[in-house]
Amino acid sequence: MTGQVSAPRGRVPPTLILCRGCRQYIWPKTRACPHCGGKVATLARTHRRDEARQNRLIARIERLLSDIERAGG
Ligand SMILES: [Zn+2]
Repeated sequence: MTGQVSAPRGRVPPTLILCRGCRQYIWPKTRACPHCGGKVATLARTHRRDEARQNRLIARIERLLSDIERAGG
């Protein structure tokens, strides 16, 4: 270890977020996506809800599958 920092010098690049409407990168503070015109906050909220629903479904399917496996022996 030389103690040198490998991070790039100068300004830290801003962290872009993904528009859930068109999957393009946008600024976090953008309200309406410049690519698809969608409302970023609304799209993100919808996406989070869909994601949670998908996770619940997957958990349910996994439970069902393990039940079937146990029953089938
Ligand atoms: Zn977009």
